[in-house]
Amino acid sequence: MNISSDTKVYVVIGDPIEHSLSPLMHNLAFQRLNLNSVYLAFKVKAQNLREAIAGLRSLNVLGFNVTVPHKVSIMKYLDEVDMQAIEIGAVNTVVNQDEMLIGYNTDGIGALAALKEEGVALKGLKVMLLGAGGAAKAIAFSILPLINHLVILNRTEQKAKDLALSLKERLGSEVEWRKMEEATLHEELVDTDLLINATSIGMYPKIDETPVNKIYLHQEMMVFDVVYNPLMTRLLKEAKESGANIVGGVKMLVYQGASAFKLWTGKKPPIYEMCAAVENYLRGN
Ligand code: NAP
Repeated sequence: MNISSDTKVYVVIGDPIEHSLSPLMHNLAFQRLNLNSVYLAFKVKAQNLREAIAGLRSLNVLGFNVTVPHKVSIMKYLDEVDMQAIEIGAVNTVVNQDEMLIGYNTDGIGALAALKEEGVALKGLKVMLLGAGGAAKAIAFSILPLINHLVILNRTEQKAKDLALSLKERLGSEVEWRKMEEATLHEELVDTDLLINATSIGMYPKIDETPVNKIYLHQEMMVFDVVYNPLMTRLLKEAKESGANIVGGVKMLVYQGASAFKLWTGKKPPIYEMCAAVENYLRGN
């Protein structure tokens, strides 16, 4: 890569940021498309967010990703926020368009693209969504218009209720919510077509954890785990052993990144190469 005075700069901001896979994906895409651009990761503490945004703006950084803990707090520093990001209540991508900072959320798009690639037809499905945090909100808003029945389960029941009520208010659809506990999982999973884990349960380093007891998994269901490290979570492994079809979180990660890349450059990145690079990295190759 030849860095020059024309090189365009893109970044991701968050804390922690050391394990972000975004630089790997985006720099690969810039190289393959022969774009004179570079993508860096900046650790930005919560109390420094305002100054960091002012700096990115004045240095004319053309686009950036936003991760934990800034996805919500960044919204007040932007000039515009896309409607879907407003509904979700979080931004993960910012475009600097003629010095206007515009916020988007590409997580839901990433999840839908990952499911589509695996051939999941969402129409008419009963979906159980585990979690009510940032990833769950993005998925819920994207998926709800396409499915038949959504049940949200969360450890903190109030958050599941808040999400269900905001979905009803914004999209006009009825959504059930319940506390995430063994009895509820047992009852609801019997006729669930698609189970989505959007909690952080099973994520590295706690890879022996799983949100659902294996005895409730069955071959009539599809299981989508948004956790991408490890590639094969305990939930996915046990779902596969139970005869269910599975979708891992890496596809969502790559597709949400691809969607951000397209917003910044107008170009489609090499998705399969990005996916292979991330998978290789996570396998330790
Ligand atoms: P978040 O906003 O902090 O939400 C975390 C969710 O997990 C909450 O619903 C929380 O429940 C639940 N949770 C955490 N630990 C739990 C436990 N021990 N038992 C029961 N529930 C628990 O986080 P997020 O941004 O949504 O991220 C969630 C996961 O998705 C992470 O693993 C992240 O890496 C992954 N993710 C993947 C992608 C992708 O592209 N594949 C994109 C975004 C996020 P409470 O509300 O009760 O605390």
